[in-house]
Amino acid sequence: MSSRSGSLVLVATPIGNLGDLSPRAADELRDADAICCEDSRRTGKLLELAGIARSSPLLVVNDHTETSRVGDVLARLARGERVVVVTDAGTPGISDPGEQLVRAAAAEGHRVEVVPGPSAAIAALVASGLPAARFVFEGFLPRKGSGRTARLQALASEQRTAILYEAPHRVARTLADLSEVCGPDRRVAVARELTKLHEEVWRGTLERGCEWAAEKEPKGELVLVLEGAAAPETATDDDVVDALRRALDRGVSTKDSVTTVARALGVPKRRVYSLATALDR
Ligand code: SAM
Repeated sequence: MSSRSGSLVLVATPIGNLGDLSPRAADELRDADAICCEDSRRTGKLLELAGIARSSPLLVVNDHTETSRVGDVLARLARGERVVVVTDAGTPGISDPGEQLVRAAAAEGHRVEVVPGPSAAIAALVASGLPAARFVFEGFLPRKGSGRTARLQALASEQRTAILYEAPHRVARTLADLSEVCGPDRRVAVARELTKLHEEVWRGTLERGCEWAAEKEPKGELVLVLEGAAAPETATDDDVVDALRRALDRGVSTKDSVTTVARALGVPKRRVYSLATALDR
């Protein structure tokens, strides 16, 4: 246990629109003894735009430096300092640094406070129109390999709405991969440039999403919100047959249609296969 108890304060910052910096966030930035940030130029600019005069040091904490910064931050907290953590945009710890600092501070008995505010994940979820009562956050999928395959397959049977971050130049690939495992009829929303001038929320099926992304590579920052898989007991034989017909009409082989429909509707392959055989007759 440290001699004096400091406070680590996680402060959410705007994801595009400066007006989303809350008064409490501004107060914390103004009064901090030190500010941990990913990029001192970017945070310096935010403080300047928000008219916050600062005398406290900016400590760079990013994916490469978070581990090595822990000791310094703990020493400051032990002196009773108030250390604020911000990232380039949004909520610290959400696909951003912060988690390690929280764990270390809490383990040493320091207070951990949060000033909640913008996060692209939640903003995209609520704007998507997809069910928000139960959801999962996937962050960025691995770019390739078995890790990516495993996460995609888990999404195929995931019944809760899923939120994914993606880079604009990779969104077409990810929509295509999702369509392959989840089936082309699964609904998706692409929330782009939220809170900025070119804010847009595109909504449709994965199949249409692939076409949309192929027409013109979407620009800026974006979040994918994916509808959950249908609960197994809700898929009737008619649902399975309809989905099978749509896949077969698109020229997909019977074997691949069975696999895709079984995954997409969350029903056993055996059941889909027997309905597909009946269709052939
Ligand atoms: N911690 C941040 C948060 O709470 O939103 C997320 C940081 S993560 C490194 C950055 C990703 O968030 C981007 O690649 C994009 O997927 C998403 N993002 C950030 N700002 C966005 C915006 N204005 N509109 C849409 N997506 C955004």
